[in-house]
Amino acid sequence: MRIFNLGYSEAEKGESGEAVGTKYDTSYGCIKCGTNTKYIGNTAVTGFGKIKKNFCVTLDSDKIISEQVYHSLTEDFDVATNGFVQVMNKKGILLPFYHLRPEGTLPKMEEGSTLAPQQKQCDHCQRNWFAYSSRWNSSKKMFEPPIRYVYKYDQTLWEATDMLKSWEHFGGSNLVEHGDYVIRFARPLIFVSEKFKNAFEALGIKKATFIEAELL
Ligand SMILES: [Zn+2]
Repeated sequence: MRIFNLGYSEAEKGESGEAVGTKYDTSYGCIKCGTNTKYIGNTAVTGFGKIKKNFCVTLDSDKIISEQVYHSLTEDFDVATNGFVQVMNKKGILLPFYHLRPEGTLPKMEEGSTLAPQQKQCDHCQRNWFAYSSRWNSSKKMFEPPIRYVYKYDQTLWEATDMLKSWEHFGGSNLVEHGDYVIRFARPLIFVSEKFKNAFEALGIKKATFIEAELL
C-alpha cells in the first residue's frame, strides 16, 4: 500500500465553495469555527467559463478536474467514484468539471510529519491553521527539512475509496461573517491511492505533484 499527497504547482484559478454559494451543514463541523463542515450538493464555482484545464486549483484551494478526466479515471482506470462532486455555476447550472471532495478522513498524522499548527488555531477543535514546518529553499530548490507525512498504516480506510482527506486543515475558518471576514472553512489535504496517481500520470495531467506518505 502506498499513498500520496496530491498537490498542484501552478497559479490558482476561479473561485469555489461557501463564498460563491456551495451549501453546507454546520452540524458536522466544529461548533466554534466550522472546520470540517460537511458540504451538501454540488460545489458552486465562478470563473470556470474560461478555464480549459483538465486539473486546477481554485483561489479557495479546492482541486478541480475536467469531466473528461473524471470519466477516464473512473471508467478506464477503475478509480472509485466516491469523492468526485460535479460543480455548478452560481445559477445552479452543472458545468463539465468535478471537485475532488473526499468523504473519508485519515487519522491524525504521526510524529515526524512536517506539519505544525499556527498561533491562530481554533482552541476548540485544533484542526485548522496547520502549515508546513518545512521551508522552501530557493537556492537549492527544495523544502528543508523535506516535507513528510507520517501515518499509521490502515488498509481498511482505503478499501472502498482512492481518495481521503487529512484530519488536519490548512488556513482559517469563519463560521460567522464579521468585519472583513466572510464565511469560509479551512481546507484539508487530499491523499490518493497509487492507482489514482498512476492514472493521473498515464493521462498526462500536467502540474500535479505527488509526495508519498510514510506508513508505519
Ligand atoms: Zn474549531
